[in-house]
Amino acid sequence: MVKNLTAAALSLVLINADLSAQTKSISGFNEKNAATQVALENRFDQLLSAVAIGNTIKELSAYPHALGSTGSKKVAEQVLAKFKEWGLDAKIETYQVLFPTPKTRLLEMTAPTTFKALLKEPAYKEDATSGQPDQLPTYNAWSADGDVNGQLVFVNYGLPEDYEQLDALGIDVKGKIVIAKYGRSWRGIKPKVAQEHGAIGCIIYSDPKDDGYAAGEVYPKGAYKNEHGVQRGSIMDMVVYPGDPLTPNVGATDNAKRLDRSQAENLLKIPVMPISYHDAQPLLAALDGAIAPAAWNGGLPITYHIGPGKAVVHLKLAFDWKMVPAYNVIGMIKGSEAPDEWVIRGNHHDAWVNGANDPISGLAALMEEAKAVGALTKTGWKPRRTMVFCAWDGEEPGLIGSTEWVEDHAAELQQKAVVYINSDANGRGFLGAGGSHALETMMYEVAGSITDPQTNVSVFERQRSAKAINAATPKAKKEEMTKKELTLGALGSGSDYSSFLQHIGIPSLNLGFGGESSGGEYHSIYDSYDHYSRFKDPGFHYGVVLAKTAGHAALRMANADVLPFDFRSLQKTIEGYVANLTSQLDQMRESTTVENQLIKENYYTLASDPTKFFKAPVAKSEVPYLDFSPLQNALFALGNTTVQLRQTWEKAIENGTAGKLNPVLYRAEQQLLSPEGLPRRSWYRHTLYAPGFYTGYGVKTMPGIREAIEQREWKEAQQQIVVDAAAINRLAAYLDPVK
Ligand SMILES: [Zn+2]
Repeated sequence: MVKNLTAAALSLVLINADLSAQTKSISGFNEKNAATQVALENRFDQLLSAVAIGNTIKELSAYPHALGSTGSKKVAEQVLAKFKEWGLDAKIETYQVLFPTPKTRLLEMTAPTTFKALLKEPAYKEDATSGQPDQLPTYNAWSADGDVNGQLVFVNYGLPEDYEQLDALGIDVKGKIVIAKYGRSWRGIKPKVAQEHGAIGCIIYSDPKDDGYAAGEVYPKGAYKNEHGVQRGSIMDMVVYPGDPLTPNVGATDNAKRLDRSQAENLLKIPVMPISYHDAQPLLAALDGAIAPAAWNGGLPITYHIGPGKAVVHLKLAFDWKMVPAYNVIGMIKGSEAPDEWVIRGNHHDAWVNGANDPISGLAALMEEAKAVGALTKTGWKPRRTMVFCAWDGEEPGLIGSTEWVEDHAAELQQKAVVYINSDANGRGFLGAGGSHALETMMYEVAGSITDPQTNVSVFERQRSAKAINAATPKAKKEEMTKKELTLGALGSGSDYSSFLQHIGIPSLNLGFGGESSGGEYHSIYDSYDHYSRFKDPGFHYGVVLAKTAGHAALRMANADVLPFDFRSLQKTIEGYVANLTSQLDQMRESTTVENQLIKENYYTLASDPTKFFKAPVAKSEVPYLDFSPLQNALFALGNTTVQLRQTWEKAIENGTAGKLNPVLYRAEQQLLSPEGLPRRSWYRHTLYAPGFYTGYGVKTMPGIREAIEQREWKEAQQQIVVDAAAINRLAAYLDPVK
C-alpha cells in the first residue's frame, strides 16, 4: 500500500499515524482533556533544551558542594534564584543536622613491611575541576573515631555469606581489622557485618575487577577507576532509619529535641575507611594464611590470601562532629483547581565533591522541567493541582534533607501529597522506573509515548528489549518479550524517595536512565563535568529524555480529571510477592532437609580436603509450614474491591466528575503502613517495601515476612503475615465505600 503513495502523501499518513498514536486515551483524562494534555506535553517538550541541561550541569558542578560547605549554600542559592526567575514561589527551608568531616586520616601497615597509604586522588590536566581546593578528602561519613592496630583479614565483599565461608575455614575476625571489596551490597552493610563479628576496624577498597582496569580503560583515558580513585560514601545504618541521626521521626528544626550521639542507633562503633587499589594492593599482597576461594579473587596481579597472619595495620581516624545547616530549596506553582493537592518532584543537590553525575545530571533535568512549567504558566496555563519542585541537601550522608523535610511536614504531606517523583544520577541508556504499583499503568503510558534518542523506539520498548536480552532463563526472556506493559520495580533505598514512601506512605516513583554510561567516577573527585560530558551523556540527550519522562508523569498527575491510580496492578503485584514467599519457603524447607542429612551422615567431612582445616556446617532448624491464608483472604477481598473501583473510576472520567474520589485515591497507600513499623526498625512503616536489613539499597518486598523467613524467625514470620494481611484488609476496607 505504501509504495503507491507519493512522498507528500506518505508524510501525511505518517503525521496522522503519529497524531493518532499520541491522542489515544491517557488514564485519568476524558477524550477532550486527553487531547489538551497531549498538546500541553508537546509544548512542554519544545521548551526543553539539551544545551541548557549541559550548561546547568557545568554551572552546578563547577566547584565542590557537599553538605555544610560554602559550595552547598551557593548551589542552593543558585537553584533558588532560578526557580524565582522562572516564576515559582520559592524558598529555602533549613534544618540543623549533624555531619562529621575528617580531622585525622591515617592508614599504615606496620608488619611484615611498612607502608603508608596515600589516601589522595591526584588532579589531571584533562579534568578541569580535579585540582580544586575545598574537596572533601576520601572518607566514609559516620565512621567512628578510632585508633586501632590489628592483624588484617580479607573478607571478600564483607557480606553475611562471606563470613559463613570464613567460619567454615576456621577464620575469626574478632579483634582484627577487615578489608572488604566495594560492591554487591550497599557499602554500609560491610562495616555493620564486620562489627557484628567482632572486628575492630574496616577498610573498604575498590577492586580493579569491579570498576577499574579490568572493566575498561581508566580515567582520564577512559571512564573507569584509575589506581587512585576512591569511592567516598555514607556508612550510616540507614536501614534502621535515615536522616539526621540525632532526630529520628522529627524534623531537625532549631528547637527539635535531640538525642545524644551515643544514643543514635544508626551509627556504627568501629572506624571505617575507603581506599584505592593503589593503597590496597600492598596490604593484600602482604596477607598470608589461607588462599582465598577462587570466587573471591579480584583483578590485582597478586595471589589473594585471607590472613590473618603477619600483616598488621594501624588505622587512626578522627572526625569533627559538627552541626551544619542543610538547605532544601522548595519551589511551588499553585494549582488552579486543587491547590491543596501537591504533585512533588525532587532530586538532591549536594554532592560528595563536584558531582556532575551524582546528583547534578538528575537535578539539571528537574530544573529544565521547572523552567518549562514556569514558561507555560506565563502563557496563562496553570496546573490543576499544585506542583512542587524540590532540591534536597544532605542526601549523600544519609538522605538527610528530604528526610528532615518529610518528618517536619508529615501531617501536611499525608493530607496533600498526591505523588512524589524522584530522580538522581542520570546517563545514557535504558529507563529505570520503580515505585508504587498502583501507578504502573500511568507510568507505562508515559514510557510508551517517549522516544529513545538513539533508536527512535519508545523508551518502554528499549527497556523491554534490554530486559529480555539480560533475563537469566529462557522462560524469563519469553515473559519479557510478551510483556505489553511496563513493570515498576519495587523501591528499596538509596535516594530521597525513602521517607516519602516508606515512612509516611506517599505514592512514589523513582526515574532515571542508565546502563550505557558505566564508569568508576562514583563519589570521587572525577565525577566532574569533563568526565560526564565525555562518558555519561555526550550531548545531554538523556537529560532531555529524563525531563520528558518525569515531566509528563508530573503533568499527568497534576492535571488528571480523576487520578490515574489503578489498584488492580497493586493487587496483582502483592499476589506475586506472596507466591514468591511461599515458594521460597518451600525451597528452604527442601534444602534444609537435604543439608541436615548431609551434615548428619558425615558427607561434608568426607568430601573435604583432609590436609586443610575444615569445619562442617551446623544443622539448621527444620522449616515449618506457615499459614498464608490471612494474606490470601485479604488479597481476595482487595481483588473484588479494586475491580469494582475501576468501574467507578471509569464512570467518573466519562461523567467528568471525580466527586470525592481523588483524595481517597492518593491517600490510599497510607493504609499499607503498619502502625508499629517493621520489627527492630519502627521508622520503616510500609508493609510492602523496605531496604533490606542486610542488603542496604536492595529492596525487600513484604519485608516483615521475608526477612523473618530469611533469618529463620518462624514465629515472627507468622506474626508478620497477620500484620501484612491486616494492612491489605485496611486498604480494601478504605477503598470499599468509593468503589
Ligand atoms: Zn545521588
